[in-house]
Amino acid sequence: MSETQKIYHCLNCNTSENDIPLVNLVYTGKQAFICSNCLPLLIHHPQKLIGKLDGAENIAPFQEEN
Ligand SMILES: [Zn+2]
Repeated sequence: MSETQKIYHCLNCNTSENDIPLVNLVYTGKQAFICSNCLPLLIHHPQKLIGKLDGAENIAPFQEEN
């Protein structure tokens, strides 16, 4: 009996876990994955993930000190 293993993809660029390390996120009770390339986007420009990550419009971007 073979069980197909779920392969996760980056929520932004859709690259699979076989091609790039994915970071496991939990947000609003939902699980999502984002790759190491797109992680800075989540930190600095979360508004760019609106429509890809549920509730992204509610994430405040990290404020860097100037
Ligand atoms: Zn990505």
